[in-house]
Amino acid sequence: MGKTFAVIGDPIDHSLSPNIHSAVFRELNLDCSYIAYRIPKGELKEGIDGLKKIKIEGFNVTIPHKIEMMKYLDKIDESCSLIGAVNTVVNMDGILKGYNTDMDGFLEPFKKKKLNIVDTKVLLLGAGGAARAIVAGFAKEKAKSITIANRTLENANNLSEFSKKIGLSATGIKIEDVNNSVKDYDIIVNATSVGLKNEPSPISLEGINEKTIVYDIVYMPMNTDFIKKAKEKGAIIIFGYEMLLGQAARAFEIWHNMEAPYNAMKKALFGGF
Ligand code: NAP
Repeated sequence: MGKTFAVIGDPIDHSLSPNIHSAVFRELNLDCSYIAYRIPKGELKEGIDGLKKIKIEGFNVTIPHKIEMMKYLDKIDESCSLIGAVNTVVNMDGILKGYNTDMDGFLEPFKKKKLNIVDTKVLLLGAGGAARAIVAGFAKEKAKSITIANRTLENANNLSEFSKKIGLSATGIKIEDVNNSVKDYDIIVNATSVGLKNEPSPISLEGINEKTIVYDIVYMPMNTDFIKKAKEKGAIIIFGYEMLLGQAARAFEIWHNMEAPYNAMKKALFGGF
């Protein structure tokens, strides 16, 4: 019997994960299928019971369940306990083990492009769930320091405390106070949701240069205003879809115990754009 995988969340109909994973099953001739399953907030327990009944092999978790899903896990991988949120689950005969592949997914493009993180100064915009995985990634790869700029200062300060706890020197500021300090940073990451609706860049990039790495984790649209402004300055660009592919590849490896065919995933993703 074929194996079934899923992505759960709400809204879910625009998720690109079914395209990516289904294309890989075809490419590798795997007898597997991947479905998008809408589970509204407040109905997670019932949703998971249903997935167990159909003997789901594994599933991805997205907004709004990434944190609440932690309650329903029987086993928790270190990636998951560190970040406090789960995005990938394996079902072993009813025993659910959770992982978080956002950190590895975020770091993957740096590795692929051989871009250095050690001793760099980082400016991170945003302090939500994704930003937390990103802070863990920069701590792991030994960045020098991180400035967390967020609309709500309290959230920036909380994330900054987390960062210090895991060994990365950090400061929280309000996003409007970034002003013209951008030139002081080696890496600038947008981890807010600003850009999803084609909004203007959340900060001015006046002062960056062709050595600055500018990374937008928003992947739809591909060329956000933030990315366009960085391109005008000749900066080194990392697109949100690169993180999306990185985390999907890592989830694939967890579920199937084999290397993910990155190029097939990329082709499938671009078909979805
Ligand atoms: P989240 O937990 O809801 O956090 C949202 C963040 O955006 C918060 O810092 C929030 O600030 C900020 N924000 C929202 N609206 C804003 C506005 N109008 N002006 C300024 N700041 C605003 O969401 P998340 O899970 O971290 O995801 C953030 C984004 O990353 C989403 O667009 C998501 O699609 C994307 N993402 C991409 C990948 C990938 O693989 N490429 C993976 C995960 C997430 P406050 O604290 O002030 O509310």
